[in-house]
Amino acid sequence: MKHRKLLMIPGPIEFEPQVLRAMSVQTPSHVASNFIEVFGNCLDMMKEVWLAPSGQPFIVSGSGTLAMDMAAANLIENGDNALVISTGYFGNRFKDILDRYGANTTILTANIGDNVALEAIEKELKNKDYKLLTFTHVDISTGVFVDPKSIVSLAKKYNILSVLDGVCSVAGEEIRQEDWGIDVVLTASQKAIGVPPGLALLVASKKAINVWKNRKTQVSNYYADWKNWLPIMKAYQERRPSYFGTPPVNLIVALEKSLKIILKEGIEKRVEKHQKLASAFRLAIEALGLTILPNNTAKAANTLTAIYYPKEIDGSKFSASMLNNDIIIAGGLHPEIKNNYFRVGHMGAISANDIIATLSAIERTLGKLGYIFKLGEGLKVFQNNFSE
Ligand SMILES: *Cc1c(COP(=O)(O)O)cnc(C)c1O
Repeated sequence: MKHRKLLMIPGPIEFEPQVLRAMSVQTPSHVASNFIEVFGNCLDMMKEVWLAPSGQPFIVSGSGTLAMDMAAANLIENGDNALVISTGYFGNRFKDILDRYGANTTILTANIGDNVALEAIEKELKNKDYKLLTFTHVDISTGVFVDPKSIVSLAKKYNILSVLDGVCSVAGEEIRQEDWGIDVVLTASQKAIGVPPGLALLVASKKAINVWKNRKTQVSNYYADWKNWLPIMKAYQERRPSYFGTPPVNLIVALEKSLKIILKEGIEKRVEKHQKLASAFRLAIEALGLTILPNNTAKAANTLTAIYYPKEIDGSKFSASMLNNDIIIAGGLHPEIKNNYFRVGHMGAISANDIIATLSAIERTLGKLGYIFKLGEGLKVFQNNFSE
């Protein structure tokens, strides 16, 4: 196909044709028995993907930001202390959301490309009586990866709730919600879950549900209140009809298809595929003499890579030339360095061939813009280092 563009941004991503076809079914009633089955299957499969067998899944119409909003609205009461561990753009958004519900929010912000030191987190937890902490698994603005295990064990040590913004990681990076003891893991459909935008997805632990049940004050956000949604989720889980707000029926049919594809491959294999593609891609980028944002590969995500432009190259020319080569990449998002780097998403249905096409376009673009390097070097390194 001439001029078919490949969408290599970190969400929305390229979707499986089967998932897109599933969306085009004639819209069933939200209380039809076949749709109740589909919705129930989605909730059951979320627990498998999240590895949270006793968690409570929620599927609500909205974007990832609504999932963040839902966690904050239900778990925070006026005056609660909340800690945000920020590795970029969405850490600040979480602070704004928590503040909106009356939290006293402290934000610990990492240097660009780095994590917040565990010692700094522990010092903060010792100092104040926190109710909850939030952190971002993969920061989409920097491509920085945070290892959840160490942060969650601190949260447990100080007996506070942990909320993981997994919008750019669920189904792409390893998450064992129940084993690790994370109270809320949230995401959105258009990232590694592989469904067009429109679904806010989260799984809450028993502890999180209990904290919500024992609130002294009513949840101040009507739409996000678990009081409205929990009976609906329970009904679908038990394959009973119910209604609070009309679910996005076609998107949920597509979600069932995508979750089936993910679980058929197996969540561990799926994560491993992301790791293999990402590590070979990073080596290729390095071979071209380019630098990634994360300080080292242990802090680099497997769902996207953020890459500095070489000094002599103008970012807008770079993106335009990539588009001309039929590859859509994302520009910078972190406000401090927005114009200095670009981002490539490589999650979900993305294959080695897609990465090869992207690398080839990067090489042609760099060449055209006068950057000095050995043509073909990135492609060579990728192919030497990637094995299925
Ligand atoms: C994409 C993203 C969000 C926001 O999701 P929307 O669906 O755009 O609201 C939040 N956090 C992270 C880490 C993301 O990658």
